[in-house]
Amino acid sequence: MNKKETVHSSQLTVDGPIPYGRQHITDEDIQAVTEALKSDYLTQGPRIAEFEESFANYVGSKYAVAISNGTAALHLCALALNVKEGDKVITTPITFAASANCVRYCGGEVVFADIDPDTYLLDINKVRELLESLPKGTYQGIIPVDFAGRAVDLEAFRKLADKYDLWIIEDACHAPGGYFIDSKGTKQFCGNGNFADLAIFSFHPVKHIASGEGGMITTNDKELYEKLLKLRTHGISKNESEYKNSLEFAVGATQNSKLNTQNYPNWYMEMQELGYNYRITDFQCALGSSQLKRADEGIERRREIAKNYNEVFESKEFVKGQSGVVDGHAYHLYVIEVEDRLGLYNYLREHSIYAQIHYIPCHLMPYYRQFGWKEGDMSNAENYYKHCISLPMYPTLTDEQQDFVVNKINDYYE
Ligand SMILES: *Cc1c(COP(=O)(O)O)cnc(C)c1O
Repeated sequence: MNKKETVHSSQLTVDGPIPYGRQHITDEDIQAVTEALKSDYLTQGPRIAEFEESFANYVGSKYAVAISNGTAALHLCALALNVKEGDKVITTPITFAASANCVRYCGGEVVFADIDPDTYLLDINKVRELLESLPKGTYQGIIPVDFAGRAVDLEAFRKLADKYDLWIIEDACHAPGGYFIDSKGTKQFCGNGNFADLAIFSFHPVKHIASGEGGMITTNDKELYEKLLKLRTHGISKNESEYKNSLEFAVGATQNSKLNTQNYPNWYMEMQELGYNYRITDFQCALGSSQLKRADEGIERRREIAKNYNEVFESKEFVKGQSGVVDGHAYHLYVIEVEDRLGLYNYLREHSIYAQIHYIPCHLMPYYRQFGWKEGDMSNAENYYKHCISLPMYPTLTDEQQDFVVNKINDYYE
């Protein structure tokens, strides 16, 4: 970047608008989808299991269940963990609302805990304070979010959760390929299931891996895995060993006919609990698998872009960044805090740079205000919201485009 610092931004030109994030579809991706469309299956074909397997390998979990989208994945996690009316679940206010909403879908109560003002992640000390303030058994679970792609220290959260018998759902939508370093110095990849009971991902086009709409749940827990498979498809089981109805009933035996089989008939299945249709399609998984092959490449480029931004902003007093180690950060977003955020946002837009704000604190959404949440409840999150802005961050962002962005920001403040 330094080589260009002498160039005034008016001399730089870029092609077209620069969004804060965008998908990257290659000819290979298109070919993979085309092949799926020409095959025998549009949905429930072999590409779903293939995608699940390669995704589980990628994050290092035992199991993966592909879901229609990340929000549905969160809903199924909450159902699988038996969230019910009156249950209290702790999450961060600086996240996409779906992280909290999944608790509400099941009638549970969302309890927000403030963020750490330096990492922007759910502050474990705030969570501990909540847990210590009420008798054990008051809370049922925690939903930490790997916000912006920075991995939560789940080892620490697991320790705390175990003390209070809580489950953990890791919202890893921002962080496939991200990791934190545990107390033994080992890389712990987001969604690897070593600490969280369940983890979820989204394949919305703005995330690392795009499948159109799409999501994934990863886990190392076989029981939860099997529950999720059922919940994804109406609560239906096709596993004979689980059947609750009798063989006589299943075959439709009449009083006069004698039972001439030991097996449940091929057509038979049982709806054993109330599930949903949260399936993903085969051609979406074809796209997901094809994209997954380039995931490491994408993260590498994201880290390079982040390094460039870091170098430029290090010396700038008008910028405060997400502090701490860069190691393991998956950089779904590159977030900074600035004064006069609105002014910068509008100035960038005038130059076709579409920065974005992540996020409006969830507890102050009108929906959550009805439960009593109000301004002042989460001072770190609220203060962060006044200053935060997400700058363009996606693998196909060129050096020239990034220079253009950086120069426009410098122009605005100088
Ligand atoms: C995108 C996202 C979701 C929801 O995913 P969808 O696939 O859009 O439903 C949930 N949580 C976070 C943190 C997200 O960024």
